[in-house]
Amino acid sequence: MTSPAKNKLTRNIIIGMFLGFLIGGLLNLWNTNSVIDRYLIGGLFYVGGSIFLASLKLLVVPLVFVSLVCGTTALDDVRKLGRVGLKTVFLYLGTTAIAISIALTAAVVFQPGVGFELSTNEGFSPKEAPPLSEVIIGLFPTNPVKAMAEGNMLQIIVCSILFGVALVISGDAGKRVGAVFNDLNEIIMKLVFILMQIAPYGVFCLIAKTFATEGFAAIKPLALYFFLVFGVLIFHALCTYASLLKVFSGLSPLRFFRKIRRAQLFAFSTASSGATIPVTLDVVENRIGVKNSIASFTIPLGATLNMDGTAIMQGVAAVFIAQAYGIEMTFVNYPMVIVTATLASIGTAGVPGVGLIMLAMVLNQVGLPVEGVALIIGVDRLLDMVRTAVNITGDAVVSCIVSKSEGQFDQSVFDRD
Ligand code: ASP
Repeated sequence: MTSPAKNKLTRNIIIGMFLGFLIGGLLNLWNTNSVIDRYLIGGLFYVGGSIFLASLKLLVVPLVFVSLVCGTTALDDVRKLGRVGLKTVFLYLGTTAIAISIALTAAVVFQPGVGFELSTNEGFSPKEAPPLSEVIIGLFPTNPVKAMAEGNMLQIIVCSILFGVALVISGDAGKRVGAVFNDLNEIIMKLVFILMQIAPYGVFCLIAKTFATEGFAAIKPLALYFFLVFGVLIFHALCTYASLLKVFSGLSPLRFFRKIRRAQLFAFSTASSGATIPVTLDVVENRIGVKNSIASFTIPLGATLNMDGTAIMQGVAAVFIAQAYGIEMTFVNYPMVIVTATLASIGTAGVPGVGLIMLAMVLNQVGLPVEGVALIIGVDRLLDMVRTAVNITGDAVVSCIVSKSEGQFDQSVFDRD
């Protein structure tokens, strides 16, 4: 695909998003017609958006498996895997801790929950959080087919790496099967390419449906909370990521942001970093220049493990809820929020709304009222879209830093167009 075509595609996705936003927003304000509700919003938009989302998800498991097997075999020294893994996990946890610290500071300074009217409480029953031991045991698959059928990303990553390592030490048989995997990888990337062509329509349907049903009315009573989370998300993306990228990889943040845009648009429309994996992987490898050996590992891992945007929401929300309930947070509470929110992100898949479930876990640990989650549910979907875009941007930044430090970065791809 030529580069003008690529740019045209990104432009069309932006147009689809903008039209979806406009039409969805207008329908939310003025539509009182049940036929439009049923056939347009609940019909065309819903069906179109769901099919698009299903097609994206369809690619995730085969792509991660095949691409990670290829990535593992491409590493000249399998022992590198341990070092790459350590660096990646350290950077993921580190950036999340920075994100949540900024969020806590902003919430303490701006006090979004002080004087908040508690009467909007609708009641919220949280899910039980799995104990950490279960999360760790759960990393290890007992059945690869089950792991794939359930889309359990961490287990799929473990399976793929084991398979890749076995391939490397299998001599000729390994070489033959490895070649098949490389071909398969190309074919699956072509599937991603095909899906991209319908993306403007899919994105339009998803956005139109969301804004037609969500609207902006819920923002008003929560305006300070909403804009504070939004502001910290933008700050983290533009300042923290830009500085990390510049300092640790020497790459131009401006160029990086221009290139990552398409993946951000997908993340924003789907509110799922998991479903966005095929696009993030494509953009990070083919537009930014991270080699497959690093990207195939860091991107799926990041979609599960690294949720800076979600952590930001949790930091602001924890302080907001404490303030709304008139609970004084102590100095012990703040580091507790940082540690629990960072740990909570491990093992929770990147799907819409999972941040709220994690927030309930955090509140529970810190001893804040879990019912407080109900206060912010009304605006969560809109924030989910923005924070998912931040989540995948964080994955891409870490992927760039790790690949640069390992000499697995193709600068000519980054410098192109
Ligand atoms: N939707 C987010 C993601 O997929 C997670 C969340 O914050 O709810 O990354």
